[in-house]
Amino acid sequence: MSKRILLLGAPGAGKGTQSKRLAEEYGIEHITTGDALRANKDMETEHGTPREYMDAGDLVPDAVVNEIVDAALADADGFVLDGYPRNLSQAEYLSEQTDLTAALFLDVGEDELIRRLTGRRMDPETGDIYHTEFNMPDDEEIEARLVQRDDDTEEVVKDRLETYYDNTEPVIDHYREQGALVEVDGEAHPDEVFERITDVVESEA
Ligand code: AMP
Repeated sequence: MSKRILLLGAPGAGKGTQSKRLAEEYGIEHITTGDALRANKDMETEHGTPREYMDAGDLVPDAVVNEIVDAALADADGFVLDGYPRNLSQAEYLSEQTDLTAALFLDVGEDELIRRLTGRRMDPETGDIYHTEFNMPDDEEIEARLVQRDDDTEEVVKDRLETYYDNTEPVIDHYREQGALVEVDGEAHPDEVFERITDVVESEA
């Protein structure tokens, strides 16, 4: 049966890195609203452009995000959802569209989140994630093309974390109360975190 995995966690918890690996491991779609929105930042919608919200660390309106998820789910057999749902109304919407085979929460403390986010760099060609202190590429050509996301500056990171505590923590509590959530320590080495996630995914399948 195809895996339908939900990965929850704060910005910087490692959802992107782990989702990418899960998608490869299980041959499923990586559905990430953040990447989809970044690719369409200046798209005009009736609520304005995604950029107006993203650059302020706010949530893009549900109607815009739900539409992205709808289209992605229609094309996907199995999937790993990364960055969605981010509030209770999105969680409700999701539950009307599909059920899940596993829901995981990557737990990382705030100091570590801030350190990870502000040092994060991205390879725009592959989407691979690096870090100025912990993990830079050996290849100079890759290093030269790395970029910092507009919203990974210290100022916007604070706003994004605020948004996370206000809107997304209730989503995590919601899945926890349903007894459907498995918590994973997200501060371990990425390989170790991946192993713990796959253990959960395989035991729940
Ligand atoms: P991410 O790459 O997941 O950190 O997302 C970057 C930004 O995109 C967020 O700070 C939000 O502005 C926006 N965004 C991503 N996913 C969602 C979502 N599910 N709901 C609303 N806004 C989102």
